[in-house]
Amino acid sequence: MVIALQPRRIRIVVGSEKVECTSELDAVVEHVRRCGWPMLDEPLYREYHDKEWGVPLHDDRFLFEFLVLEGAQAGLSWYTILRKRENYRRAFDGFDPKKVAKYDQRKVDRLLSDPGIVRNRLKVNSAVQNAKAFVKVQEEFGSFDDYLGNFVGRRPKTNRWRTLKDVPAVTPEASAMSKDLVSRGFGFVGPTICYAHMQATGMVNDHVTSCFRHKEIAHLLRASPSPSARRRPSSPLTPPEAGGGGGACRSPIPSP
Ligand SMILES: [Zn+2]
Repeated sequence: MVIALQPRRIRIVVGSEKVECTSELDAVVEHVRRCGWPMLDEPLYREYHDKEWGVPLHDDRFLFEFLVLEGAQAGLSWYTILRKRENYRRAFDGFDPKKVAKYDQRKVDRLLSDPGIVRNRLKVNSAVQNAKAFVKVQEEFGSFDDYLGNFVGRRPKTNRWRTLKDVPAVTPEASAMSKDLVSRGFGFVGPTICYAHMQATGMVNDHVTSCFRHKEIAHLLRASPSPSARRRPSSPLTPPEAGGGGGACRSPIPSP
């Protein structure tokens, strides 16, 4: 005789709510408070929010990965790009900027026939162009990470937004970063993309205050070693622009 056992249900309090689940772990995963992004019920997306978004990144290879993926996102959802991420890593040599900088036309054509990535000629060409510019920045500043630190005064900032509507799409710092990147030959780096990059790589903490990651990321930012200022940009950073210009595409943060 087979007896179908019902999982034991427990009730626990999460925040100010009582929730019912099969284990405390389930409760934490399913009911913990997060930023109210749409589609956070998708495990891949939730994991990205819970483990990656806003964690300070100081590894140039990952910074290049985000730059390429954010450019590829233009006009698409971030979730679409996340699902293709492993394909991108395979297609783009693990986002080694030195390798990507050497891609020739034949390699670009091969990428454009790869169904695992976004097959847009402008975006693929831009990834190669950005790799070349990225390597030049590394040569000038020691690392791309060192270069980026200039745009936040080497002090990542924790904001205290209460709701998603409070989170800006762009800031003066992102506009300055965009302008400087464009002057160095980068493409698909509008102010909105630059701000998305800052948020994703922990140059700023934009989890809303009620999200469980707000406090954790704030702690990480305080503990995160700030890259040393080896060199200043050859030209003074552009003074912050008033307002936001809006980049070529949307931020990885889905609009509320
Ligand atoms: Zn959050």
